[in-house]
Amino acid sequence: MSDIEFRGVAKTYPDGTRAVSELDLRIESGSFTVFVGPSGCGKTTSMRMINRMVEPTAGTVRIDGRDIAGVDPVRLRLGIGYVIQSGGLLPHRKVIDNVATVPMLLGASRTAARAAALDVLDRVGLDRGLAQRYPAQLSGGQQQRVGVARALAADPPVLLMDEPFSAVDPVVRAELQDEMRRLQAELHKTIVFVTHDIDEAIALGDRIAVFGRGGVLQQYDAPERVLARPATDFVAGFVGRDRGYRALSFRTAEAVALTPIRTVEADGITGLRLAQGDWALVVDADGRPGGWVDGTAVEAVRAGASPAASVSAGGSLFTPDGDLRQALDAAISSPSGIGVAVDAAGTVRGGLPAGEVLAQLAAQRRIEDAERNREFFGQ
Ligand code: ADP
Repeated sequence: MSDIEFRGVAKTYPDGTRAVSELDLRIESGSFTVFVGPSGCGKTTSMRMINRMVEPTAGTVRIDGRDIAGVDPVRLRLGIGYVIQSGGLLPHRKVIDNVATVPMLLGASRTAARAAALDVLDRVGLDRGLAQRYPAQLSGGQQQRVGVARALAADPPVLLMDEPFSAVDPVVRAELQDEMRRLQAELHKTIVFVTHDIDEAIALGDRIAVFGRGGVLQQYDAPERVLARPATDFVAGFVGRDRGYRALSFRTAEAVALTPIRTVEADGITGLRLAQGDWALVVDADGRPGGWVDGTAVEAVRAGASPAASVSAGGSLFTPDGDLRQALDAAISSPSGIGVAVDAAGTVRGGLPAGEVLAQLAAQRRIEDAERNREFFGQ
């Protein structure tokens, strides 16, 4: 158990800057909470009050019901992992010694601490061969993984992460986010993660706390609710114009009705008869999609063009056990306007026109409205 609770917390810095105002927030044990908002709205200040790197000027922060103002800060921090943007690694120490730092501070022998360090390097997906390197000999993404490993080495119940992935490129960043999700599914830590990136917040958080100017908490909710029902104009503006589209990623594509697709193998293209505006999907011998042809492409192949040069790339594919965002994206990125559903083996299962995704969205909303009404009227 490691609930974290802010009660009436405020922070005004000595120069008069009001960084956090009247913060009331309860972070449940084992949950992944993201503090998100534009720069300068008090996210880092709020997070640092959890490990007493910043002291509140009003209110209390409790961990498991205990006011941490009464806990020795050094002891407190030994139970709270902390990851920062630059990795925060000691440059003159090898990776393994960086990771073994906290277990040794907690009294583990050097041998035991190093053994624990190797285990945790495995856990965050780092090759043990990197253990003997110095931080400067690693890529940015690897350094961040070492930062996460170091924070986890002593198995603290709480993990604070301050913009940990902001400095790495988008591809590595997406990998690190996947890794965090996988780790959290295994470890069930109480994680507080700061970012200014709403997409990162949505990808990672069980709940997200949106902070606004003056350190005022605007909304604290599950990400799908922040997207679907922003509590304030500020939140609506911050989550951005694509929020409806992003919200589709929380809806399953399982119930969408697939339509049959006309398929053809490459050697059959010349025999196709397609009316104006019709498309056929070219598949390989195993039924895996290769792209689309229309009447013009068929004529070109008949006239001697190679099928490969005449097929239009297929748009993105989706799997019916995925979400509606992928389904809609598959449909609108497809030259035919039809998304292609494939199974785990990559074989075509059927097609999905964009309109069907919208019909499915409307159907899911009707069910939810009916449920809300039932709850409200208590029947
Ligand atoms: P965020 O993490 O959302 O970017 P911060 O918590 O870092 O926001 O900062 C909130 C506000 O407090 C900002 O206006 C910032 O300039 C100010 N601030 C942060 N740290 C200090 C400090 N040590 N002294 C004075 N002002 C500070």
